[in-house]
Amino acid sequence: MSDVRDVIIIGGGPAGYTAALYTARANLEPLVIEGFNWGGQLMITSDVENYPGYADGVLGPTMMADFRRQSERFGAEFLTDDVTRVDFSERPFRVYVGDDEHRADAVIIATGANARQLGLESEQTLQGRGVSYCATCDGAFFRDKVVVVVGGGDSAMEEATFLTRFASKVVIVHRRDEFRASPIMVDRARSNEKVEFVLNAIVEEVLGDDAGHVTGLHLRDTVTGESSEIEADGLFVAIGHDPTTALFLDWLDHDDEGYLVTEPGSTRTNIPGVFAAGDVQDHTYRQAVTAAGSGTMAALDAQRFLDEERHHPAVAARSA
Ligand code: NAP
Repeated sequence: MSDVRDVIIIGGGPAGYTAALYTARANLEPLVIEGFNWGGQLMITSDVENYPGYADGVLGPTMMADFRRQSERFGAEFLTDDVTRVDFSERPFRVYVGDDEHRADAVIIATGANARQLGLESEQTLQGRGVSYCATCDGAFFRDKVVVVVGGGDSAMEEATFLTRFASKVVIVHRRDEFRASPIMVDRARSNEKVEFVLNAIVEEVLGDDAGHVTGLHLRDTVTGESSEIEADGLFVAIGHDPTTALFLDWLDHDDEGYLVTEPGSTRTNIPGVFAAGDVQDHTYRQAVTAAGSGTMAALDAQRFLDEERHHPAVAARSA
């Protein structure tokens, strides 16, 4: 059985590594169980131009390696494996990787969320080369280009409307002829002269050129079964996100979509000593910089929790 640590951080994205940096610099010697797929969504992002400090832009995987290295410099330890189970029934909390048990007085959950994918091989091949899951992040790369947005929810409408700032044309492809999006969002998209709709259609293949850039899409009509092709320079998949919270749902308060619920203005969950940071508790902003900020909050919340508890146990029990 391992010793009891001050802090275990679960997740290796912007929130997790930033929490690791702050807790390491506070001498809390964090263990970061970062997952096999450490880096998170940034690993399928090519150019990042909206993270402050990288004036010339940076590749997503490079940025995550930088984040990781910066926290390592101050003593953060990493376990490149996936957590398989947690037990938050009593302190110290228990976090398992297979049969290995890790114990800590505070846990920061920063397991993020994943943009849902269409599940096409061609989509995977062209990720970061015209296939994107974030208009805020990548829209500016499509100035005067034609882009397709897939989806019929609020995200698809919002992303499509946002993309008209750059693109010459935005085509919304939706698999039904009714929208999950609120009418006002649909109306906003409809009233934009750059937006076109292709309804009752699913994407069967993303087409690319020899250089590996998106050139168009192969569509199938869900009513007639007919196939067609449209030309496009980019594809924005906006069919929702799934927070990575399955391991925590039995322990922690969460909303209908599975996002962890934290106290407003903090990263505290319903279990004192367990904190949640980044996209795992944020379905609104979903940016690397907001996740990093939230990781900072979690580190400071955990640090204060441990300080108060060690010096004023009664106060910690009341305030947590
Ligand atoms: P969503 O509401 O779940 O909508 C997902 C859309 O993607 C649906 O239209 C769905 O089609 C489609 N879809 C799902 N899987 C697909 C697949 N494999 N192939 C093709 N299409 C697929 O997700 P969301 O739009 O991301 O919104 C999530 C939540 O955030 C919602 O509560 C939304 O209101 C909120 N939100 C609000 C705002 C805002 O108010 N400004 C902006 C963004 C998001 P079907 O309809 O046929 O199932």
